Amino acid sequence: MADLNPIYNSTLTCPVCDNKIEVSKVRSRFVKLKSQDEDFCPYYESYNPVFYEAWVCKYCGYAAHSTVFPEVNRNDCKQVLDKIKPKWTSRDFTGERDINKALEAFKIVLYNLQVRGAPFSEFGKICLRIAWLYRYKGEYVNEHKFLKYSYDYYKNAFSKENLSHRKLDEYTLMYILGELARRLELYDEALQWFGKLISVSANPKEKSKIQPRLIEMTKDQIHITREKMKNDEKESAAINE
Ligand SMILES: [Zn+2]
Repeated sequence: MADLNPIYNSTLTCPVCDNKIEVSKVRSRFVKLKSQDEDFCPYYESYNPVFYEAWVCKYCGYAAHSTVFPEVNRNDCKQVLDKIKPKWTSRDFTGERDINKALEAFKIVLYNLQVRGAPFSEFGKICLRIAWLYRYKGEYVNEHKFLKYSYDYYKNAFSKENLSHRKLDEYTLMYILGELARRLELYDEALQWFGKLISVSANPKEKSKIQPRLIEMTKDQIHITREKMKNDEKESAAINE
């Protein structure tokens, strides 16, 4: 048992081309969460399961986030088979992944979403994970580019998408939008999103559906955002003196 490999493969059927494929996962006993940023970017003691969330079919090039991999309709299949498969050169994504291999897999997922015309919330999720991978690498410019993409996609998801059948609820989405705006230094927008969540939570019927931790985090982030705005004002006042 001591030399049990932390990474293992599981077999499934590609929902697009019907071939049997293997995807790699981290054994749960090796997943030890150390901390988390305010936008939920996780840090682990050793193996990071986020690296393995982008699943890729080596036969047809279909790729998706692990949580929605089987969810394709007939049009999705047609788009992948017509537009991705003919250009696809088989690549193996099984086994241990480093950040760069994870990024490569996530970029293939992003390309799949574009070809399929996937829901905004799915784009937002994948762009946020790509931003995290750049954060792990310390590539600030790329991180911010993808945080901005994620923010814009999530804004569209909030206004145009029916989220009731999605894993992401509208309360968490309001918080994420606020936090992404804060990280992008769009402080007024950040306060609007956080404020929206706080005013929704004033309604007892709604409040029961919101995780108490989310409300606490929102209050903390409102405080941090206001402090930052105050300091920025002081600084610009000092410059103008
Ligand atoms: Zn396939």
